[in-house]
Amino acid sequence: AKSRGRSGLCFYNRLLNSAAVERLRLEAALRRALERGEIDVHFQPKVDRAGRPLSFEALVRWHSPEFGAISPAVFIPIAEDTGQIEPITEFVLARACRLACTWPHELAVAVNLSPRLFYSGELCRRVERALATSGLAPHRLELELTEGILMEKNMKAVEQLQALKALGVRLAVDDFGTGYSSLAYLRRFPLDILKVDKSFVGNSTPDSSDAILVRAITSLGRELGLTVVAEGVETRAQWDFLRQAGCDEFQGYLFARPLPAEQTLEWLKQYPD
Ligand code: C2E
Ligand code: CA
Ligand code: CA
Ligand code: CA
Repeated sequence: AKSRGRSGLCFYNRLLNSAAVERLRLEAALRRALERGEIDVHFQPKVDRAGRPLSFEALVRWHSPEFGAISPAVFIPIAEDTGQIEPITEFVLARACRLACTWPHELAVAVNLSPRLFYSGELCRRVERALATSGLAPHRLELELTEGILMEKNMKAVEQLQALKALGVRLAVDDFGTGYSSLAYLRRFPLDILKVDKSFVGNSTPDSSDAILVRAITSLGRELGLTVVAEGVETRAQWDFLRQAGCDEFQGYLFARPLPAEQTLEWLKQYPD
């Protein structure tokens, strides 16, 4: 088969390669994206039960001249594999802290941290540096971490979270309900905020099974003294249900889409004091 298969192998390789080559092209483009100014950060507000803004979440954007707009759901995993996640996060952190300093009323800013970064020894130093450089008060910075880090075997996670807490920042579990963390472990970690995943929120008509989950997760979070945030709120009916379920904060298209940095102050003007 080895001697005969030359042309067959070539053909087969070509099929495999189209996906692999595409990925390599993306990787190469991503490697230059920061220096070429193609990476940007948008900000989506979170509001309280009265609909008033409390904070914004920083969401990274990549507009490649070659590929167009690429979703962070696509390029963040690639950035994690290639190590680009480190400079990208540093960029997002710096932008987020700097912008937050321009907002009134001590509004907070939230930054997403990927798991790979979470275990790098540099994390605390990076966060500290971003705070020092911008002058943002630590309590105005929230770090969003996915549930994956709360797994039982990761006892290092407790230490890392405690070290971050010691800086004075607030810690959030993102996408809660989609991972495999044990509920009991929620208590063990020094968390402040629980974000109910938007997949539950989207379908939660009052007697659906998602609604039951949202109510259960919300009361659990509140019992544990956490601020419970519902994301992906798109309709007034969802917001009403989520308020009734006891959620503290809300985020979603109903309030605003992620906004370019320059538009955040403009958006805030509709809430004079
Ligand atoms: P996430 O942290 O769960 O962010 C929420 C996502 O839901 C965002 O997608 C946001 O634009 C979208 N969204 C907000 N409101 C609504 C709504 O009402 N309905 C619906 N259907 N969607 C809504 P986005 O910006 O595409 O980000 C996707 C994911 O990429 C984020 O999910 C986060 O996990 C990751 N990501 C984004 N920025 C960063 C970053 O700077 N660093 C890291 N590590 N990950 C990031
Ligand atoms: Ca998030
Ligand atoms: Ca989320
Ligand atoms: Ca998500």
